[in-house]
Amino acid sequence: MSVRKSAIVTGGTRGIGRAIVESLADGNLQNFSADVLFVYNSCETCAKEIEEQFKNTDVNVIGIQSDVTSFDKAQEVVNLALEKFGKLDILVNNAGITKDNLLLRMSEKDFDDVINVNLKSVFNYTKAAFKPMMKQRGGRIVNISSIVGIIGNAGQSNYAASKAGIIGFTKSTAKEFASRNITVNAVTPGFIETEMTAALNEKQREALLVNIPLKRIGQSQDVAKLVKFLCSSNADYITGQVISVDGGMVM
Ligand code: NAD
Repeated sequence: MSVRKSAIVTGGTRGIGRAIVESLADGNLQNFSADVLFVYNSCETCAKEIEEQFKNTDVNVIGIQSDVTSFDKAQEVVNLALEKFGKLDILVNNAGITKDNLLLRMSEKDFDDVINVNLKSVFNYTKAAFKPMMKQRGGRIVNISSIVGIIGNAGQSNYAASKAGIIGFTKSTAKEFASRNITVNAVTPGFIETEMTAALNEKQREALLVNIPLKRIGQSQDVAKLVKFLCSSNADYITGQVISVDGGMVM
């Protein structure tokens, strides 16, 4: 029989986050299904569509509009998950934005916004989720970073700093939480086909493909499959790791 877990996913309405919500809820993957509370920024129609998708299944998938930059709101979302599902086994910190520019032209606001949404949110949700996971004597936290946090990228100093910050935060909390049986890992996607990357033109895509040994752009499901594995019992002995899903771009 498939095990039932409970999860929070930030940024779950589209792209990688949506694929993560769908894979966590799917009991045919990695021998467990999860009730999922997903957080989003603005698209209520998108949230309703995902809720509808799971309406006649045996899992509860609920969307909630909440700004991930606020610690108090993160606490509220964690409390809501506990109220709805009775426990919290999994946290996936996925919400992220880009506000690209060369440093010379980057405003202080664009730097702060990206750090707040991408990095401070990980602090907010991890801190709020730690207590219930500690009381339950176990949990899984997966943070979505980026290969840009490892190799850097011109025009993305704010984004790269936030994603490198996630890696340091992941390793530190993995060490702090290990004795509580809570694992913390980071996933670093390469170039994945989502709304975030839709703005790239054909020339930019071709230039990127030259550096991808597997010669294709990644899909959100490629990332979601790894996240599901890291949340499963097959990954019991894995913590503090940074794992790339990038078609071999960085090796
Ligand atoms: P996306 O833009 O398609 O989706 C982002 C999600 O984050 C949305 O659901 C949005 O509602 C949510 N969000 C944004 N700001 C928020 C806020 N203030 N409060 C609450 N929710 C908020 O992005 P994506 O391409 O699916 O990327 C998901 C994650 O993967 C991000 O952290 C991104 O940095 C990372 N990533 C993406 C790629 C890629 O190629 N797409 C590569 C590496 C890493």
